[in-house]
Amino acid sequence: MKNFSCKRCGNCCKWSGYVRLLDEEADEIADFLGMELHFFTGNYTVITADRRNLSLIEKTDGSCIFFIADPPGCAIHPVKPRQCRDFPYRWNFPGWQDECEGMKMDQE
Ligand code: SF4
Ligand code: SF4
Repeated sequence: MKNFSCKRCGNCCKWSGYVRLLDEEADEIADFLGMELHFFTGNYTVITADRRNLSLIEKTDGSCIFFIADPPGCAIHPVKPRQCRDFPYRWNFPGWQDECEGMKMDQE
């Protein structure tokens, strides 16, 4: 992936799957949004099936609740979870190479 560079296509945010939060990240995101922690966790997160984390909820199309479609972006960019910041190097999902425009460019 030496030539990988993010093209800001947003496809990694459209992927349907958990966006896991580290313990401190729920506080950080709630603060950023100006919400009480309990309001944020109750309305914007679910507990993962393995009960290890909170995860951001999805829209009906499977995209992250904080995904902005046009132009693609993240509504909580300054405090987005580590999972998001780690994509694709330290965290990714099966088949991500077919979704990520930056990876497609790398393969050309
Ligand atoms: S928090 Fe932001 S960067 Fe992470 S999946 Fe949601 S929209 Fe994308
Ligand atoms: S899918 Fe790849 S190119 Fe598109 S926003 Fe995510 S990291 Fe960037």
